[in-house]
Amino acid sequence: MQEPFRAIVISRNEDKVQKVEQTEINLADLMDGDVLVEVEATTVNYKDGLAITGKAPVIRRWPMVPGVDCAGTVVQSSSNDFSEGDAVILNGWGVGEAHTGAYAKYARLNGNWLIKRPQNISARDAMAIGTAGYTSMLCVMALQRYGLSPDDGPILVTGANGGVGSIAISILWKLGFEVIASTGRPEEEAFLKSLGASAIIDRNELSEPGRPMGKERWAGGIDAVGSHTLANVLAQTKYGGAVAACGLAGGMDLPATVMPFILRSVALLGVDSVMAPKSLREEAWHRLGDDLDTDKLHALSKTIGFDEIIDTAQSIVDGKIRGRVVVDMSE
Ligand code: NDP
Repeated sequence: MQEPFRAIVISRNEDKVQKVEQTEINLADLMDGDVLVEVEATTVNYKDGLAITGKAPVIRRWPMVPGVDCAGTVVQSSSNDFSEGDAVILNGWGVGEAHTGAYAKYARLNGNWLIKRPQNISARDAMAIGTAGYTSMLCVMALQRYGLSPDDGPILVTGANGGVGSIAISILWKLGFEVIASTGRPEEEAFLKSLGASAIIDRNELSEPGRPMGKERWAGGIDAVGSHTLANVLAQTKYGGAVAACGLAGGMDLPATVMPFILRSVALLGVDSVMAPKSLREEAWHRLGDDLDTDKLHALSKTIGFDEIIDTAQSIVDGKIRGRVVVDMSE
C-alpha cells in the first residue's frame, strides 16, 4: 500500500488551462477521510466526461483525481460504521469534484458517504448502475411517491440511450409501466425495446420550442435532457401527472410556461443524487437489487480497462456511448 499506484490526475496551470494525465500517485496525495477503499470497479458518468474534457466546471479543486463513483473493499477504517473487508459503494458527495475520487487504485473517503453494497449486487454491477442508475431509481421513486402507478398511463423517458435513460426504462418495465423512449438515435429502437420500451419517439419532436400545452400523451416522465425538451414533456403530460427532472444533456435552461402546472395540475419533481441523504440512498440501492433485471443491466453495459477512461470521457460528452460503462480496475 506504500507503493505508488496508478491514477488519473487533472491539474491546471496559472492560465487555468486544464491538463489530464494517467500517472502514479501515493496515499499521501489523497485527501483526508476515515475510510480507505481499494477500488474494484468504477464507471464513466456524463459528469466524469464533463470533468475530464473540461467542458463544464465540475472540478472545484486542483490537482484532482476525478471519478464520482466507486465500488470497492475497505482496507483501513477509523469509522465506527465500517471495518476492513466491508464491500462498499460511493456515489457523489462531491467526490471526484472537490475530494480526490475514484480513478485510482485507492480512494480515501468519509464513512458518512459510503453505503454497504447489497449482497445481491456485485461490485461490477454496482458500477454498471453507478450514479446514473441510482439516479434513475431516485426518479422512479419520486414518481411513485407522487402516486403514479402503471394504471395511470405511459411514462416518457428522455435521453433514452444514455445511462439514466436506459436504466430508467429497465426499472419501469420491471415495475409494469408502459414506457415511451425519446431518443436521437432511432437506429437503437431494437435495443430500447429489448430494455422494455414499447414505443420510440424521435427527440426532435421535443427539442424545439413548443406550445405552452399540447395533447396529453403520457402520465409522467423521467427527463435527463432539460431545456425545450423538459418544457415540451411538461406540456404533453396528462392531467395530474408528474415529471422527474434530473439532467441537462440538452441544456440547463427551462423555457416553459406555468400552464401545465396551473391548468393540468402537473408536478415537476426535482431529483438530485449528489447530496441525497443516506437513508434515501440505501432505499434506492436496496430497490435496485430487486427492481432492476440483471440480464438487462448486462445488456446495456460494457466493460473497459483503466487505460480507456480518458477516451471514454470524450465519447460520453459527444453522446456516443450507449447505456453504461464499467471500469474494471483489474484490467
Ligand atoms: P449519458 O451521456 O449517458 O446520456 C445522455 C443522453 O441524453 C444521451 O445518450 C442522448 O440520448 C441524450 N442527449 C445527449 N445530448 C442531447 C441533446 N443535445 N439533446 C437531447 N438529448 C441529448 O448521460 P447520463 O445518462 O449519465 O446523464 C444524463 C443527464 O443526467 C446528464 O445531464 C447528467 O449530468 C444528469 N445527471 C444528473 C444527476 C443528478 O443527480 N441530478 C445524476 C446523474 C446524471 P439519445 O441518444 O437516446 O438521444
